Amino acid sequence: MMNDNLVRMTKQTFALGIDIGGTSTKLALVGASGDIAKRASFSTADCADEHEFFRHLFEKIVEMLRGGVEVKGIAAGAPSANEQQGTIENAANLPFSPKVELVKTVQERFGLPTQLVKDSNASTLGEWHFGAAKGMKNFMLITLGTGLGCGIVANGQLLGGEYGHGGEAGHICVVPNGRACGCGRFGCTETYVSATGLKRTVFDLMANTMTDSPLRSKSYMDMSSRHIFEAAQSGDALAKKTFEMTGEVLGRAIADMAAWFEPEAVVLSGGLAMAGDLLFLPTIDSLERHALAFHKGHKIKVLPSALGENDAALLGAAALIWNEHQVWVKGGVNKT
Ligand SMILES: [Zn+2]
Repeated sequence: MMNDNLVRMTKQTFALGIDIGGTSTKLALVGASGDIAKRASFSTADCADEHEFFRHLFEKIVEMLRGGVEVKGIAAGAPSANEQQGTIENAANLPFSPKVELVKTVQERFGLPTQLVKDSNASTLGEWHFGAAKGMKNFMLITLGTGLGCGIVANGQLLGGEYGHGGEAGHICVVPNGRACGCGRFGCTETYVSATGLKRTVFDLMANTMTDSPLRSKSYMDMSSRHIFEAAQSGDALAKKTFEMTGEVLGRAIADMAAWFEPEAVVLSGGLAMAGDLLFLPTIDSLERHALAFHKGHKIKVLPSALGENDAALLGAAALIWNEHQVWVKGGVNKT
């Protein structure tokens, strides 16, 4: 870690990246090559409302800028971000009013160029500039957590869509009339391929097969994807079958999405991606079987994130500043 004196001596310029999450908000001073010089964080969950959130955020930013640190701009990744308006709207897991003016509030306080990007797009930018997808022109990041998040780079541009909701790969229908999804539809990818989807598959298998498993002693509320992972690692047939079924659905979904924009690679991140071969091998196998003829022969790589869960969004937000991306600006100009 670089101390304040060293920052002053070297006169290095930084981008200030912020990752706003339901549990915590993280900040970092990021250099042009993705090096992190200084970090800070505070608990988002403990904030009563956005006013308290901004008080903590401003305190931390002031701390970061102490000692005359030169900052080119501030960028934040957040769930439910309206990139076009610079607002966070109806965020289910943040203690905020329905509409919070993030860009305007931060810009007015610090007078620095400020940007806001969806959390999934922030992680995508992180992998693109500093991680597993460095230098690629066509790739997709899939984040497997409670749900399935996605970011797409096509023809060297981050895909935004006409209204800012493009690339919702978690909500394409993979099983007609399948499992009920939080979005109100049925059979969406994330009801099968996510930590929650994994658990739903375990309970389907327990109900519909006679396979014995230590997982049978757990209630739905008590079971986590970690339990399923540990059971699979110790050779439990039901848990292993669960990962195989999950990879089967994911591989087929990737094969279908590849028909649209032909990515060089799909990067998998998030808690479920940490299962490694248990998830990657059936996914790669399924992708190969379902791929269009010109994508067979493992032309579309399936890669693990090179940044890990903690830093991808932080680095990606900073990359917005370093690369002068404007994901969305008023007037609809997409200067990437
Ligand atoms: Zn859905």
